[in-house]
Amino acid sequence: MAKKSAILVLNAGSSSLKFSVFRQSSDSVELETLLSGQVSGIGSTAKFEAKGADRRSLAEHVWDDKDSLCRDTLLLYVLRWIQSSLIDDDIVAVGHRVVHGGQSLDRPMPVTQDLLEELYGLIPLAPLHQPHNLAPMRILGKSYPDLEQVACFDTAFHRNQPWVARTFALPQELTNEGVCSYGFHGLSYEYVTKHLLDIRPDLADKHIVICHLGNGSSICAVKGGRSMDTSMGFSALDGLPMGTRTGSIDPGVILYLMREKQMGLDELEDLLYRRSGLLGVSGLSNDMKILQESDEPQAAQAVELFCFRVAKEIAALASSMGGFDALVFTAGIGENSPQIRSMISERLAWLGVKISAEANAGKAFDISGVDSKVPVFVVPTNEELMIAKHTISVLGQRMGEA
Ligand code: ADP
Repeated sequence: MAKKSAILVLNAGSSSLKFSVFRQSSDSVELETLLSGQVSGIGSTAKFEAKGADRRSLAEHVWDDKDSLCRDTLLLYVLRWIQSSLIDDDIVAVGHRVVHGGQSLDRPMPVTQDLLEELYGLIPLAPLHQPHNLAPMRILGKSYPDLEQVACFDTAFHRNQPWVARTFALPQELTNEGVCSYGFHGLSYEYVTKHLLDIRPDLADKHIVICHLGNGSSICAVKGGRSMDTSMGFSALDGLPMGTRTGSIDPGVILYLMREKQMGLDELEDLLYRRSGLLGVSGLSNDMKILQESDEPQAAQAVELFCFRVAKEIAALASSMGGFDALVFTAGIGENSPQIRSMISERLAWLGVKISAEANAGKAFDISGVDSKVPVFVVPTNEELMIAKHTISVLGQRMGEA
């Protein structure tokens, strides 16, 4: 019997490599998840875990610290494990999550040598993420030259924002060099927008504010399916406070720290990316669930500050569109924490936002209160599925061209 075609999705970060495998059924456009998993602890104690479609564990492996494994070895281990686990399917293509597509890349692209060079050129714009996103493309290109690869960009969804949303008040020459607002989490916003509009096509031309609240958090204003403005800007540090990142702070703080505390680049980067946010304020944890379960006053302060800033940013983004007709929560915190959704909504009562305590406590899609002026939804995100769909569509176009 002929094997079925499967798509591998890779999300390679600084210390983890996440993967998912999807199958396109012949009788439907829907994709079925076959496997998912990750290698975590890359650079320290690497651990491989894989789960089946039913979320049951299929495999686990922990490498000894002494093994000092490089990324190439770990990626090839994952690929071989997947190939040996798939009985009825063959991996025909790989879709990659890439954080930065720069000023010009506004859609997923097939991976070619030219594209790779362009993406390597964007490393200065995302030095902590982009090199890790690109490494698997090079390794797979060498070891599996016949495997089709597609790059999907987190910035692409925001590419066509109005110029006012993209421009910092800096001298023109810096803006022209690319010092502008790019926005991130685009694959999540794209998935959530499509999913919401499938269920509520009446919202297609409306103003929607989507809150992606996870370890990394941002908010996006969407109108007519298009990003109009977003809270993350030039880097993934901007906007909301996050697990360990500051979010927006007065740039004068950076000057003060450099001048008065003689902080250098590495120390500042560590402070802004890894020692701030929920962790910095609470002094306890970057994990929202742990903070919500804690009795420590600093934990409550971190939670309150987070909700204050989310509500403030929602109002700002609503203003970017001239109002809003729907509010959506997604990602780890947005999907799973009724308390956070409730605290944020309370702060937006003046805008007519009210949620139903009962629907909010359950796993409802529509959590609006009966008298809410703005409907409020919870839509679980699925960036991997979005990447798999893009991969199929890019390769479909290529085959159509051939
Ligand atoms: P990432 O940005 O790494 O993809 P996620 O979207 O998985 O992160 O979100 C992780 C965050 O979601 C963590 O802060 C975690 O505590 C939070 N979270 C997950 N489940 C819950 C829950 N039931 N209550 C509160 N927070 C939760």
